[in-house]
Amino acid sequence: MRYLTLTSTLLAGTMLGAPVSAGDHLKIVDEPLELSIQMNHARYPRYEESWPVEQEARRLTNIHLKDFTVGANLRVDENDGRTEALNLMLASGKIPDIVGSSRLKDFVNQYGPEGAFLPLNDLIDEHAPNLKAFFEERPAIKSALSAADGNMYYLPYLPDGKYGRAYFIRYDWLDALGLNVPQNVEEFEQALIAFRDGDPNGNGLKDEVPYFARQWPELIRLVTLWDGRSSGSDTYHDFYVDEGKVKHPYAGEGYREGIKNLARWYKEGLIDAEIFTRGSSSREYLLSENLGGATHDWFASTSGYNTSLGDRIDGFAFKAFTPPASISGKRIEEHRRIPIKPDGWAISATNKHPVETIKYFDFWFTEEGRRLANFGVEGQQYTMVDGKPKFTEEFLTNGKPVNNQLYEIGSQLHARGFHQDYEYERQWSNEFALEGIALYDEGDYLIDQFLGVAFNADEQRVYDRYWPSIRDFMLERQQAWVLGTGDVEADWDDYLAELDNMGLNQVLKVMNSAYQRQYGGG
Ligand code: CA
Repeated sequence: MRYLTLTSTLLAGTMLGAPVSAGDHLKIVDEPLELSIQMNHARYPRYEESWPVEQEARRLTNIHLKDFTVGANLRVDENDGRTEALNLMLASGKIPDIVGSSRLKDFVNQYGPEGAFLPLNDLIDEHAPNLKAFFEERPAIKSALSAADGNMYYLPYLPDGKYGRAYFIRYDWLDALGLNVPQNVEEFEQALIAFRDGDPNGNGLKDEVPYFARQWPELIRLVTLWDGRSSGSDTYHDFYVDEGKVKHPYAGEGYREGIKNLARWYKEGLIDAEIFTRGSSSREYLLSENLGGATHDWFASTSGYNTSLGDRIDGFAFKAFTPPASISGKRIEEHRRIPIKPDGWAISATNKHPVETIKYFDFWFTEEGRRLANFGVEGQQYTMVDGKPKFTEEFLTNGKPVNNQLYEIGSQLHARGFHQDYEYERQWSNEFALEGIALYDEGDYLIDQFLGVAFNADEQRVYDRYWPSIRDFMLERQQAWVLGTGDVEADWDDYLAELDNMGLNQVLKVMNSAYQRQYGGG
C-alpha cells in the first residue's frame, strides 16, 4: 500500500517536474486562449479559422484566432493604399485583439501614437526572443518600422530573396542577327535597331516590337542606362536616397538625359508604340505572337515563357541578361525585392492579452512557426527531407499555382507578420529563372533601397498638401516628353522652376527631416 502510494507520488512528481515534452515547447498558454482578429487582403478577405495553418498553429501554441473581420467585402487597393475596411473597423469602435492587413503601415503609424495600437518595442524586448534576435541582426529594418514617435506599431511581412526583375532579351533573335548579348547601352540600342529592321521572326514583315513592358514605368526604368533613376524602392516613382539625402529621381540630370534618349528611341520605333496603353497583357501577347524582343520584368514569371512557348515557337529563348552598362559604365539593377513591406499585423490597445499576443507573434519567427508560415503543414504540403522542408511532388505538379494553393491553406499570408523563406519559391522556380538569377549573382548590380519614412503630423500635412499634384505633374510631363510633345532639354529649366513653385522643396524638406529622425543621419 505504502509502496504503491510512493510510486504514484513519484510518477506524478515526474510528470509535473519534467521538462515540457517535445510537442509542447511552443505552447504559449496551458488552456486554449482565443484572440480576435481582423484580417484584410485582396487575396483572402477574412481570416479563415479552418485554414490548416491556423489549425496547426492552434495545436502548437494553444492560441486560437477567431475571425472578427469587418468590411471583408471592401477591396484593399494595392495601388493607392486605401484601407477602407480598416477605417470602417475604426468607425465601428471595436478593434479586435489583432489587426492584420495589406497596407497597414501608414494606418498604424497614424493611429498607434494616438492610442489605438500598442507599441511593440518593450513587449518584444521582454517576451519575444526570436523577434528580438531578428531585429538585433537587422537594425535598418527596425529603424524603417519606427513611427514618428520612435515606437514600432506593427510586425511586417518580410520578403526573402534578393531579385525581382531583370533585363530579358530574345537570345535566339540575337543569334539569328549575328549579335552578341548587349553589354552596354549602345549595344542594347543596336540590338533593338536590329530587331526593328532585321526581321528576326522571319515572317517578311517589319512587325517586331523591340522593347515592350507590361507596366509602362518599366520604360522609365531605362533612364538608369543614362545614369538617371526612376525609383528608390519597389514602388514606382518613389523617392530615393543619395549620399544620405532623400531626393526625387524625376528632378535629376541623369533622368533628363535618359528621358531625352527614350523619347528618341520611342520616335525611332525601338519602343512599343502602345507602351502606355497596352497594359498587363502585353508580355503574354507580344511573346506568344513572336513579336516582342526585350523587356524588364520578373525573373520567375518571364522565364516561364521558355517552357510554355518553347514548343510552339522554334528556338524561342527569352532569357535574362545582365544590366547593360550605362553611359558612364555603371551596371545597376534598380529593382529588387524590398526587405520589408507595409503589410503585416498589429496589437490593438484594447487587447487584454498583450504578452500572450506578442509571444504568438514571436511563434511565427521560431523555426517551426516560420516553416508553417512558408510551407504549410508537414505531411500535407511538404515533408522533411534531410532536415529541410520540401514540397511534395503532388503539391507542385497538380497544375494549380503554388502561391494560390498556399494562400488557400493560410500560408504565405502578407497580412501576417512573418519572415519569408526564399527556399519556398526556389522549389518551384523553373530552370531558366534559376539560370538568370545565377547570372545576376555573378555581379554586384543591386543597389540599396529607400525603406520609407514615418511622418509626424506636421510633416504629413506638408506632404499631403503638395505631393499629389507634384507627382501628377511629373508623370504628365514625363509621358509627354516620351511621346514627343515637348522637348525635355528645352523644357527642363521651366520644369524645375514649376516643381519649385508647386512645393517640391517643402516636400523634400519634410522627407529629409523624417529620414534623419528615423535613420539617424544616414
Ligand atoms: Ca517580322
